[in-house]
Amino acid sequence: MKTVYIALGSNLGDRLGNLLQARERMQSPHLKLKQASSVYETGPRGLLEQPWFLNQVVEAETTLYPRQLLARLLKIEQGMGRQRLIPNGPRVIDLDILLFGNTVIHLPGLEVPHPRMAERRFVLEPLSELAPALRHPRTGRSVPEMLAETMDQPVRRLTS
Ligand code: AMP
Repeated sequence: MKTVYIALGSNLGDRLGNLLQARERMQSPHLKLKQASSVYETGPRGLLEQPWFLNQVVEAETTLYPRQLLARLLKIEQGMGRQRLIPNGPRVIDLDILLFGNTVIHLPGLEVPHPRMAERRFVLEPLSELAPALRHPRTGRSVPEMLAETMDQPVRRLTS
């Protein structure tokens, strides 16, 4: 059994409803959701001409292998109608594995810890609610330390 952290994001349609639906679809005997952070609102990056995002992080316990977990998340994205038309473009739902216990993974198509988590305030703020004492398995930095170092844009807490 491993503790995993998964980031959720949505900027199309009923954004709050999409986060809820993704959490419901994730929940299973092999992936038990334990905690969910508040929901945060964030402006887009990269491609700026698109709606604002809602972001959230969940903590779960899983018996799945990392590849199986990724496959499951990709299936949920597809099942919810995500289309990969434009890189960094608008999406109904985006699900990223941030951390998989203390495991460091470098596989084609799967990198854990998520390579951009340390620079994303919209990931670190919700993560700090759930696990402030947690340390990045590769750099050893705590979540508050990573937050203090990020230059990323501010995020707005929407719900608690
Ligand atoms: P994106 O379009 O940003 O959702 O990227 C999804 C792709 O990133 C997936 O097809 C995965 O193969 C790849 N990927 C690599 N590392 C991760 C990770 N930690 N979590 C989710 N997807 C990942």
